[in-house]
Amino acid sequence: MSKVKEHEIENSIRKILEYIGENPDREGLSETPKRVVKAFKEYFSGYNQNHHEILGKTFTETAGYSDMIALTNLRVQSHCEHHIAPITGQAIVAYIPKNAVVGISKISRLVSMYSHRLQLQERLTKQILDAIDEVLTPYGTAVYISASHSCLSKRGICDDEAMVQTFAFSGDFLNSQLDYKQRFIALTQRV
Ligand SMILES: [Zn+2]
Repeated sequence: MSKVKEHEIENSIRKILEYIGENPDREGLSETPKRVVKAFKEYFSGYNQNHHEILGKTFTETAGYSDMIALTNLRVQSHCEHHIAPITGQAIVAYIPKNAVVGISKISRLVSMYSHRLQLQERLTKQILDAIDEVLTPYGTAVYISASHSCLSKRGICDDEAMVQTFAFSGDFLNSQLDYKQRFIALTQRV
């Protein structure tokens, strides 16, 4: 990840354990700093990847398919950059192919890559849109995320029912002469 040594991070976790009033040397906690470092590597594995790698391989033999391709129920598991608190939810991603389509699992991997970074939901939504627009240059892209933020549900105001919904559209999804946006919004109502 960076030049910071793992044992320095482990020491910092030990300090946090002391700070909250724990004994970091007791049996149950003695390996916790190592485990937390390992977990952080997983939570933030998205910094080591980029959207070109993920979306790079495309396919053109689509028999002229030209309508919207939508993936629904994509899992979003991220962390907010203000509190490093979990964000969990679902995404819907759709695009209207121009020249090429991408393997459907790649869209899921793209959502996962950006989710495995510290995030703002607004930025996460826009980054997914921009990556698809940049690499696939489709007629249009749409992204919807509905997520629960632990920093809202488990601390502060503790509003555990609240869901944050974000939308991003480009190209033909913004053309009011066409019905793509309405069809996309209809998908979001099933989440
Ligand atoms: Zn937060």
